Amino acid sequence: MSHAVRKPGASEQQVVAWLPEEWRARMTEWGEPAFRAQQIFQWIHKQGVLDVEHMSNLSRPLRARLLEHGLRSPLVEEMVRRSADGTRKLLLRLDDGLAIECVMIPRAHLQDLHDEDEEDDEDEGTSEQERAERPVTLCISTQVGCAMGCVFCASGQAGLKRGLGAHEVIAQFLHARRHLDAGERIKNIVFMGMGEPLHHYTETARTIRLLTHPAGAGLSPRRITVSTVGLIRGIQKLGEDFGGKIGLAISLHAPDHATRSSIIPMNESQPLAELVEALRRYPLPKRRRITIEYTLIAGVNDQVAHARRLVQALRGLPIKVNLIPMNPIAASSLRAPEQQAVEAFRRELAQLRVSCSVRATRGDDVDAACGQLALNAPAPGAGSRSLRDQLLSGHGS
Ligand code: SF4
Repeated sequence: MSHAVRKPGASEQQVVAWLPEEWRARMTEWGEPAFRAQQIFQWIHKQGVLDVEHMSNLSRPLRARLLEHGLRSPLVEEMVRRSADGTRKLLLRLDDGLAIECVMIPRAHLQDLHDEDEEDDEDEGTSEQERAERPVTLCISTQVGCAMGCVFCASGQAGLKRGLGAHEVIAQFLHARRHLDAGERIKNIVFMGMGEPLHHYTETARTIRLLTHPAGAGLSPRRITVSTVGLIRGIQKLGEDFGGKIGLAISLHAPDHATRSSIIPMNESQPLAELVEALRRYPLPKRRRITIEYTLIAGVNDQVAHARRLVQALRGLPIKVNLIPMNPIAASSLRAPEQQAVEAFRRELAQLRVSCSVRATRGDDVDAACGQLALNAPAPGAGSRSLRDQLLSGHGS
């Protein structure tokens, strides 16, 4: 190869997240024909190839130039754990030594996240072969740690270390695809891993554009769900930029402002009533519903009266509620309610004609709760000191 290989800097790695028009501009600058842009984009996003040596229809000088400009995976697969229920967790190491994770979940374990009716509608127009494939949902991370500080969440207690670039978010999808079983296909993406995706709106929006681009993976926007603690401006932008096609899951966790503020510090600056108004304005297509995530915490938000107030607060919104008995975390003494309380809460919602499910635990044997695997992963050279310790003390490797 005629170009010297040099280690790319962080900003140069953005090439993995370039859109076709950005590749076209670069090809013009390099004196390459415009169709090369499409070829490169397809290699990365359709074929999932991040090693330039395998981009066989490109000239050697162009491959060398791509390498020089940092075209390679921004992630190293450090560990893949497979649960008995088919859930797969990937622990991925970033260039700066921090770790993230993404989780692949077979559809059979996801009734609480997807509406069968909606999915049947969405399957219209897909080929027979695509319909025969077994769908997998991929849960991806957008930040290392999280700035929102929710008291029941390990990522929130660890605090924000840094946001991920779109190249690091899309690379989770590209790596996960390599771990599909025969006959499986990633059909749904949920931005529900570590971090608040709307805190990093630009990177999240770019990742969605990459995932849905017809020259790449070509995912339907309706099969993408962004889970947010309720950042109003971000919800508004998402609605404007994608016409309401992107699904919304709101980590609500409380029926009133005071209770919510006690467990989600961010709520203080964004009153619940304003969030509900933003949800009413979200241009959701007919027949689609907003998922309301509600972590049940014993003695905090788990009474039948809370269920009634929740229905009142959200009256008129097309919603389905996903109840999540709290996962215990080391940094808090909060805990899940008894099974009877969970059932009483669910029953009350059902009586008030609100569609509701209780999230089943999945992949317990591979650290099921969001962020557990990455938060417990030792950084290279960190000895027994866990990443979580590093995050808590503010010292990454
Ligand atoms: S629950 Fe979500 S928004 Fe809250 S701290 Fe955890 S990751 Fe962040």
